Amino acid sequence: MTDAAALPGQPRGGPIGGPATARALCVLAPNPSPMTLDGTNTWIVAEPDAAVAVVIDPGPLDDAHLRNVVATAERLGKRVALTLLTHGHPDHAEGAARFAELTGSPVRALDPALRLGEEGLGAGDVITTGGLELRVVPTPGHTADSLSFHLPADAAVLTGDTVLGRGTTVVAHPDGRLGDYLDSLRALRSLTVDDGVSHVLPGHGPVLADAQGAIDHYLAHRAQRLAQVEAAVRAGHRTAPEVVAHVYADVDRTLWPAAELSVRAQLDYLAQRGAA
Ligand SMILES: [Zn+2]
Repeated sequence: MTDAAALPGQPRGGPIGGPATARALCVLAPNPSPMTLDGTNTWIVAEPDAAVAVVIDPGPLDDAHLRNVVATAERLGKRVALTLLTHGHPDHAEGAARFAELTGSPVRALDPALRLGEEGLGAGDVITTGGLELRVVPTPGHTADSLSFHLPADAAVLTGDTVLGRGTTVVAHPDGRLGDYLDSLRALRSLTVDDGVSHVLPGHGPVLADAQGAIDHYLAHRAQRLAQVEAAVRAGHRTAPEVVAHVYADVDRTLWPAAELSVRAQLDYLAQRGAA
């Protein structure tokens, strides 16, 4: 879920779909839109020699896509043993139940309502399917239930909608909160500093080979938008739609409803900061 087209000065990523790192391969779902960019990236992640794979975000309820993910894993000699969700938005999670039927794999997510099987998913969890190591990194802000997955062996992090391959993400207020989102970006940034993470494998758009640059760009963009929203409020724009028309004048109008969610998150953040 994006709120802007490619931004000037933003790092450009590589092609979408296919192998991205030694352990991660993207199957692009056929659901492109202004909100989903090229479509949802469904990720197959596995140790090269393992017979089992983890799938992150099966994507929309599109049987051909879900079967294609299973077939792609099979071509790699792997059975899907576990399904993980970065968050509950339908373009990532709607196909999960059908995918679980096709693969017999449990579905783990932060939100209990999205789980199938015994196990939950949250801070500190480490996935070890087939010798693969995936560390769960809570990254609320886009939504309250957003998770990222650190893949240390490939110096990569799978970010769902928290960091996208192009544009910037929506802080989907009121579920998503800007203070949380900024903290999550800083947590991801510290992975690039402390753990040497170099690649972002996003939920939409191309892989980013300069994770730290991309996250710094996001933080700068958020600070810039927040300053614009603050200025709009000072200039007398009071309601979220007024602020959107003022601040997002350069953004395609089809994205204004999403921008309004981000503006509500920013107004809420400013009000809380003012009250603190
Ligand atoms: Zn989303």
